[in-house]
Amino acid sequence: METILFNDSPEDLYKAAELIKNGEIVGIPTETVYGLGADASNEDAVRKIFTAKGRPADNPLIVHLADFNDAVKYTSHIPEIAYKLADEFCPGPLTIILPKNDKIPSVTSGGLDTVGIRVPAHPVMRRIIEISGCPIAAPSANTSGYPSPTTASHVMYDMSGKISAVVDGGQSEFGLESTVISIENEDTVRILRPGCVTSEHLSRICRNVIIDKAILKEVEAGETVSSPGMKYKHYSPQADIVLLEGAIEAFTEYVGRNYGDDVYGLIFDTDAESFPYRYLTYGSNDSQLAHNIFSKLRELDEMGAKKVFVRAPSKEGVGLAVYNRLIRAAGFEVIRI
Ligand code: AMP
Ligand code: MG
Repeated sequence: METILFNDSPEDLYKAAELIKNGEIVGIPTETVYGLGADASNEDAVRKIFTAKGRPADNPLIVHLADFNDAVKYTSHIPEIAYKLADEFCPGPLTIILPKNDKIPSVTSGGLDTVGIRVPAHPVMRRIIEISGCPIAAPSANTSGYPSPTTASHVMYDMSGKISAVVDGGQSEFGLESTVISIENEDTVRILRPGCVTSEHLSRICRNVIIDKAILKEVEAGETVSSPGMKYKHYSPQADIVLLEGAIEAFTEYVGRNYGDDVYGLIFDTDAESFPYRYLTYGSNDSQLAHNIFSKLRELDEMGAKKVFVRAPSKEGVGLAVYNRLIRAAGFEVIRI
């Protein structure tokens, strides 16, 4: 199959929407990362997503809608707190897990009786939802296990020949996937995957915000998890990633001791001046780290890096989301120095 590269002109968005309406799958820009979009109500189309990504069948897909009020069409119950959260954070990088109805096939929900609903803000994704008239199931448009794509060329690299088209809508603003939450009761939500909507943001609307323990640790074999995605190795480039937690002086000393031909540092912009080894930087504040992390991991592969020591972000605010991706990219190899 030849994968067409569309731009964000009205004609191209119309063609992309037609493909989705006809059961094909298309790479689409969103403000979080690029998604691999299909009609969420079409089982055959959704199966194509799992095949193209090599995604485990029990890892559910998020369903994207143009308006949170459309969630009534695909769910059996919407708690009041969900509307309050949607008023504040939709459109935006927040996914709310709700009980699904039979409009969402089991293949889309990975066999669960719930569905994650998100209202994206990116104008290209919104336009494609509107023109197609479809609820769009869209996981990140990477090969399963590899870093998520934040540009159209990342999607082409992973998916060329496997999907109908990619729409180029520029670089994703946030650079990390959405925050995924479940609702425990009218006062309590649980963060299953951290993102750019942080627990501090959620606390403004909801009294209790629980951070699921699986966010910062490895899921044991056989352990039940609230979000199936937490079980899998994720976000990993070819290079071996090691996360180093500590000050730049200790980081530099550690890398120096382990330095070799194929070793790189992935450090903060502010570290660069004092770091004498090969490196890339990925920003200086949490939003920049989030924006850049996946593209830098891919860039390190392009450079032929075999081992990369990454300077760990804080676990506060958006830093927690970056940290959550990095410990998985590192296969939980974290060293405190
Ligand atoms: P991705 O599609 O790559 O952004 O990953 C979606 C994430 O959301 C995965 O970690 C899923 O396990 C999680 N997710 C999606 N739908 C549900 C659901 N119904 N219940 C729990 N987690 C979900
Ligand atoms: Mg993903």
